[in-house]
Amino acid sequence: MGLRDNIRRVVPYTPGEQPKIKVIKLNTNECPYPPSPRVIRALKEADYERLRLYPDPVCDGFVSALSEYYGVGKDQIFVGVGSDDVLSMCFMTFFNGDKPVLFPDITYSFYDVWAEVYRIPYRQLPLREDFSVDPEDYMGENGGIVLANPNAPTGIAAGKEELERIIAGNPESVVIVDEAYIDFGGETCLPLINKYENLIVVRTMSKSRAMAGMRLGYAFGCPELIKYLNDVKFSVNSYTLNMPSLIAGAEAIRDGEYFGEITGRVRATRERCKAELKKRGFEFADSMANFIFARHPEYHAARIFEELKKRGIYVRYFNKPRIDEYLRISIGTDEEMGAFLSALDEILPEVE
Ligand code: PMP
Repeated sequence: MGLRDNIRRVVPYTPGEQPKIKVIKLNTNECPYPPSPRVIRALKEADYERLRLYPDPVCDGFVSALSEYYGVGKDQIFVGVGSDDVLSMCFMTFFNGDKPVLFPDITYSFYDVWAEVYRIPYRQLPLREDFSVDPEDYMGENGGIVLANPNAPTGIAAGKEELERIIAGNPESVVIVDEAYIDFGGETCLPLINKYENLIVVRTMSKSRAMAGMRLGYAFGCPELIKYLNDVKFSVNSYTLNMPSLIAGAEAIRDGEYFGEITGRVRATRERCKAELKKRGFEFADSMANFIFARHPEYHAARIFEELKKRGIYVRYFNKPRIDEYLRISIGTDEEMGAFLSALDEILPEVE
C-alpha cells in the first residue's frame, strides 16, 4: 500500500478565468449590473459586532424571504453557498445507489466532477444534433437525473411538458432541474414541486440577482426531500452561510422590482446581440439564458477567442468534443456588447 492509495484524487472542475486586470468580462455569465441598492444599504447598516457569533444555522431570514417571494413553504426550501454547494449536497444526498445517474453529454461541466468525487455511477446521454434533450432517453433505469434548464452552455430551454414527462416517468429517482438561468427565459418547473415528490428545482443568486461574489443558492422540493438535504448538510457543516450573506440574500429577494429591471435589461441586450451576431454570419440556438453559444461557419472559435482576449475581451471557449467550434458569450451591458461586436469586426477578416 502506498500513501496515494488512501487519498481521494479527482480531476477538478475548471472555473472560467477571473483576470486581475480590467477586461470586458463575458466569460462566466455574471450579471453586468450591481446588486440591488437595498442589498448594499443593508450590508452597510449591518451590526458587524455580531460576527463574533455563529450565524443562524437554519438561515431563517433568508429562507422566510424566499418563502414569501416564491409562495412556497419554508419546509420546501434548502439554501447553500451558491448553487454549486446546493447541487453538490443534492448529489451526495440523492444519488446514493448503484444505478447510473443520467445527464446530457453537453451540460454544466460540474455534474460529472461531483459524480466522480462522490463515486456515483453516471451516464452522459448525447443531446440531439441540435443540442435539444430527447425525453425518451431518460425513461430507462437510472439512479437519478440532472438537467439544466435552460441548459448550459447552449442556452436552450426544454419545454415544461417535456421535463414533466421525465419527472413523471421516473417516480423512483430524484430529478434535479438546475434553473440557474431561468430568470432570463424558459418556463420554470417550480409549480411541479407540489405535484411530484421526486423533483428538486435548484436556483442561484449569482446571475439574475447580481451576487456571484456573495455565494448564495437555493433549492425547492417537497418537505421530505428538503429534510434529507438538511440532514446531510448538518452532517457536514452546520454553518454554511455567513451573516452578511444571509442579510444580502434576504434583501435581494425582497427587491423584486430591481430584479425585474436588470433581468429585463439583460434579455433586451441579448436579443439585440443575437441580431448583430446573425448579421455577421454567426449561427446559434435561440438562447434563453444570459449568454449566447455561437459558432461561425468560416472562422474557428479558438482563433476568435484568442484574438478577443488580446483585445481585453474574455469569452468562454470549451475545447471539448461537439462544442469546440463554439464560443459562449455572456451578455454584458450594451456598451460592453458594442465593444465586443466592434472587436469582432476587426478580427473576423483576419482569422480564417
Ligand atoms: N448551474 C449552472 C448550470 C451554472 O452554469 C452555474 C454557474 N457556473 C452554476 C450552477 C453554479 O452557480 P453558483 O454556484 O454561482 O450558484
